[in-house]
Amino acid sequence: MIEAIQRYELCEPCSLRQGFRGALSTDPRRCFICRGLTTRVDEIRSGILRRLRGYEFRTFSVGLSLPEGMQEREDQLRAEYKLKGRETIKAWLSKSLSERVARATHRRVDKMNPELAVLADLGASEVRLNARPVFIYGRYTKPAGVSQRKTFCASCRGGGCAVCGYSGYETKASVESTIQKKLGPLLGSKKMKFTWIGTEDLESTVEPSGRPFMVEAKNPRKRRVPRGFVSRTGMGQIRVSSLKLLPSRPLKLPGFKFKTRVAIESTSTINPEDLRRLSRLMRNVVVEFRRPGEKPAYKRVYGVKAKAAGRGGILAEIKLDGGLPVKRLVNGDSVSPSISEVLKADLKCRKFDILKVEVGKFQFG
Ligand SMILES: [Zn+2]
Ligand SMILES: [Zn+2]
Repeated sequence: MIEAIQRYELCEPCSLRQGFRGALSTDPRRCFICRGLTTRVDEIRSGILRRLRGYEFRTFSVGLSLPEGMQEREDQLRAEYKLKGRETIKAWLSKSLSERVARATHRRVDKMNPELAVLADLGASEVRLNARPVFIYGRYTKPAGVSQRKTFCASCRGGGCAVCGYSGYETKASVESTIQKKLGPLLGSKKMKFTWIGTEDLESTVEPSGRPFMVEAKNPRKRRVPRGFVSRTGMGQIRVSSLKLLPSRPLKLPGFKFKTRVAIESTSTINPEDLRRLSRLMRNVVVEFRRPGEKPAYKRVYGVKAKAAGRGGILAEIKLDGGLPVKRLVNGDSVSPSISEVLKADLKCRKFDILKVEVGKFQFG
């Protein structure tokens, strides 16, 4: 190893990692491998800690990008001295930094699945953070006239214009925009992805306890949500309740059943006997839904309670499986048996409201 002393200068940590006995240089900045980087560990740690301010996390990892040539110089020296299986400078640095950050923040290191991944680019002197997304479950109710999803601006169709304040979206409140406006700032997340457990019409009301949804908040600074909130729109209130964090991204979305109140119009007169027959025949019945270009889906209708409502009108309460479109179940378009079919009448669904949604269990990996 005398030869190493003659050929290379190494700082103490870089020398010890190779199994040499101590510093092979009086000036760490002259270290052949790190050029003094190992003396800057505390300074780098401070840079990371500054960047972590305002982030909520229980576990973290530290990844590194080394200045160009550093790992190559160590590899070269090791090849020359036939040194194998020793800790690399990168591993040593990330271990040293992880330990220091853990001590300063009282947070745990989790290399596999951290809530916050820290990437220190030591070449560019930059710290980048990537927070694991949070998955939130909740339920919403809404009044008629408020849409479930954000819709593109009618003037620019999503391109951004003065009408929509260059957002590309309709400025009118939707369930989606309301939840995003509330949870976005709370979570410190700019990007949210919604998954709806079914959908309804603009004119449908969703009654308590509401329709379930899931939202993925990307790169969140905070990882806590309130239990719920209420938001006023020009049309009435949107209520969000039962908010909770899910342990991870669900493997599969649960199935659901729902109860709806449907206002139906008929071109012919429906007498009470027809409505009794409808209740009898549409109890616990499997219907076929033929989707264009897809295999038919088989869904269940659990029950129909119907009564006459004015001239040619029917008011029905139907309980059915999610994924079976209410309007088609009424008018018979691609669905059989349908309410039109059973009543032998030409029916149209004027409006449907969501009275109750029962959702199955979410499954996680
Ligand atoms: Zn060194
Ligand atoms: Zn626009």
